Amino acid sequence: MSEIFILGGGASGMAAALGAAAHGPVTLLERQARLGRKLLATGNGRCNLSNTAAGQEHYHGADPAFIRPALAAYPPAAVLRFFHELGLRTAEEYGGRVYPRSDHAASVLDVLRIALEQRGVTVRTGCPVRGLRRSGDGFVIDCETGRFSAKKLIVACGGCAGGKLGGVTDGYTLLEGLGHRRTKLYPALVALRCASDYPKALKGIRVVARASVLRGETPLGAETGDVLFTDTGVSGTAIFSLSRSVSAGGAGLSVSLDLFPEETEQTLLGDLRRRREAFASRPANELLVGAVQNRLGLMLCKAAGVSGGAPASALDDKTLAVLARRLKDFRFPVSGVGGFDAAQVTAGGIATADFDPETLQSRLVPGLYACGEVLDIDGDCGGFNLQWAWASGLLAGELR
Ligand SMILES: Cc1cc2nc3c(=O)[nH]c(=O)nc-3n(C[C@H](O)[C@H](O)[C@H](O)COP(=O)(O)OP(=O)(O)OC[C@H]3O[C@@H](n4cnc5c(N)ncnc54)[C@H](O)[C@@H]3O)c2cc1C
Repeated sequence: MSEIFILGGGASGMAAALGAAAHGPVTLLERQARLGRKLLATGNGRCNLSNTAAGQEHYHGADPAFIRPALAAYPPAAVLRFFHELGLRTAEEYGGRVYPRSDHAASVLDVLRIALEQRGVTVRTGCPVRGLRRSGDGFVIDCETGRFSAKKLIVACGGCAGGKLGGVTDGYTLLEGLGHRRTKLYPALVALRCASDYPKALKGIRVVARASVLRGETPLGAETGDVLFTDTGVSGTAIFSLSRSVSAGGAGLSVSLDLFPEETEQTLLGDLRRRREAFASRPANELLVGAVQNRLGLMLCKAAGVSGGAPASALDDKTLAVLARRLKDFRFPVSGVGGFDAAQVTAGGIATADFDPETLQSRLVPGLYACGEVLDIDGDCGGFNLQWAWASGLLAGELR
């Protein structure tokens, strides 16, 4: 009979189980039919598993400093060493983002699953934990499929983001049942909903842009990266990073896309003038062909009041200036953020004040540990959330 139980076979739970296996027999209980289902969907199936720039400034919650001991014990280099020892090859990309060299999230899950087997961890999938209570100096765990007793317990049930991938509130309920507090939950790293026809008309187009969230002319946040137009608004890595500003920003917000962040409005205007000469006989609204994706070019022309009825040579300087402005500031209103199902991470969670950051052991219930997203910690887009999942899982797995 295992004395150590891990609840949740996601990123942090698997890391915790591998660490804890050094201290005795471990059983990993997973609610879904297989381990690491969400992990397979991360990074668009590529799994952005860490970020070499991980530091406190990339994390949020009531007390972001809570992450420090875990990140000091398991910084990105140590996490990558852990994975390299399991056989995973990795590659670093722009902004310190680390991916498996295979470009497949399945490689990350495979090395973890095999290591769990090799270290003798008992894995029970299809085993949702429904109840948890103290019994003597241990715990009784009630699952739909049976009852277990444990001496030590690590809760790694994750958050409620990504509902279709198995995100649930169980971890919060189980830990609250043992007296831990929970902060308000809201979706983070999520697409923006836009009250405008532009995104829908541009659905499927991806650009690299500097995206800003504005209230009036006041910027609330800005980020450069991928922006994807969707049926309901805008998505992509740059947008995910701005969703926090929108959640906190209230009503009356807009998003502005600078489609040429590396150029000034003046140089863009110069280019538009050259195009007017070079492509004089083209319909005016085809002036941007070759500069941006065609559908986007037509839309930008429309937004600048440029129609296809006249040739490019008929465009006056004033109209070209408006078009140059649109290239630097393509703006539309934002009505809010997507819900938990569309979110990559849950902001808020179990109060970190109830856990010791040096060990991740509960301050209220000795022998109980927690790691990963269930705690009130969430990271920026770019591999910071999985870095936290691995680091906190490995620290909790030390069972100190
Ligand atoms: C679409 C998507 C893409 C993402 N991409 C990235 C990325 O590229 N890089 C990055 O850093 N982060 C990414 N994230 C965030 C990242 O996946 C999570 O922050 C991370 O998985 C959290 O790890 P965790 O172990 O805390 O939770 P999870 O990985 O969610 O694991 C929790 C596990 O607990 C199980 N569980 C829940 N309740 C119970 C119960 N009652 N009994 C038993 N088991 C239970 C769940 O089924 C689940 O398997 C992404 C998230 C989503 C949704």
